[in-house]
Amino acid sequence: LYGGSRKKTGQNVKVVVRVRPMANEESNSNQIIVSCNPPQEIQAKDKKYTFDRVFSANSSQTDIYNYVIKPMVNDVLAGYNCTVFAYGQTGSGKTYTMTGGDPDAANNNFEYLIDERSGCIPRIATHIFEQLGLMNICGFSVKVSFLELYNEEVRDLLNNDISTSSLNLYIDLKGSVYIQHLNEVDVFNSKDIYELIRKGTLKRRTASTLLNNHSSRSHSVFTITVSTQEITATGLEVLKTGKINLVDLAGSENIAKSGAKDKRVQEMANINRSLLTLGRVITLLAENNKHIPYRESKLTRILQDSLGGNCKTCIIGTVCPALSSFEETLNTLEYASRAR
Ligand code: ADP
Ligand code: MG
Repeated sequence: LYGGSRKKTGQNVKVVVRVRPMANEESNSNQIIVSCNPPQEIQAKDKKYTFDRVFSANSSQTDIYNYVIKPMVNDVLAGYNCTVFAYGQTGSGKTYTMTGGDPDAANNNFEYLIDERSGCIPRIATHIFEQLGLMNICGFSVKVSFLELYNEEVRDLLNNDISTSSLNLYIDLKGSVYIQHLNEVDVFNSKDIYELIRKGTLKRRTASTLLNNHSSRSHSVFTITVSTQEITATGLEVLKTGKINLVDLAGSENIAKSGAKDKRVQEMANINRSLLTLGRVITLLAENNKHIPYRESKLTRILQDSLGGNCKTCIIGTVCPALSSFEETLNTLEYASRAR
């Protein structure tokens, strides 16, 4: 007999929602229709939803970091893999949450400091090196990769040449994922990581300008891998490797929209499949299901060794508070609810 009640959400999957503040251009003619009842409830018009946590428009980057990310960083240092997804319509705050505010300021005046607008990735960088300095270890290595998945092709955002070729993906017998020729850059302090965020973000933005705003139609994955070496009291060497993936997903408005033409049709179908497969994978993981359809999309294949098992996963649904976004907001809340 199995005692106790079975929780629907596996402890390893968390689903939270964040509301961004009204933008200036929205506030004149637009009504606010989303309200939060923290810690867990959110309402859009008369539709109510419950999540592991909700973050109102007043929430800070620190609030998100402390609740969602900090426990994961501790897991990474203990040798586990973790993944965080930002899901929501374009303009709802995915990149703000993952990377931080005002990316243009990063162009010339990159101060290497955490401020209140800094997102998860620079905060993780700082936290990891702080912790490594405190741990009783005899060696460590930290590596970063940053890729973009556009139309089912993998591109390296840390590669200097602008080659557009897609990288190949392999999964070994142990289930580890390898992406051929993907740069894994050794980093020695948090500044090195800030610099790579900047480099990759610039490259992504350049491609986006050339390809008609393709960043809203691509996923990006920023990965930090940490290995530590310890010698136990009995003289045994212990090596641990863990990683965290920060995934800024394609805009959810791309799901199931008609009206796409020509080559866009295939592109939309790919985005649809990857977002819908991801949703199903997370639902099945939360239910502790044995059969997870990782192979049904490239995104879930890339992340296969960081989802399920002992891996912690969090999905951050991001929504706009305005009436004009009501439909997309409902879509995001529904998607996030299904994942839970
Ligand atoms: P997305 O990546 O989902 O397309 P962005 O992260 O680029 O959206 O956010 C759109 C705009 O809203 C940006 O100017 C961003 O700085 C701002 N923004 C988003 N979320 C917040 C927030 N929580 N607080 C302040 N500004 C935000
Ligand atoms: Mg973005």
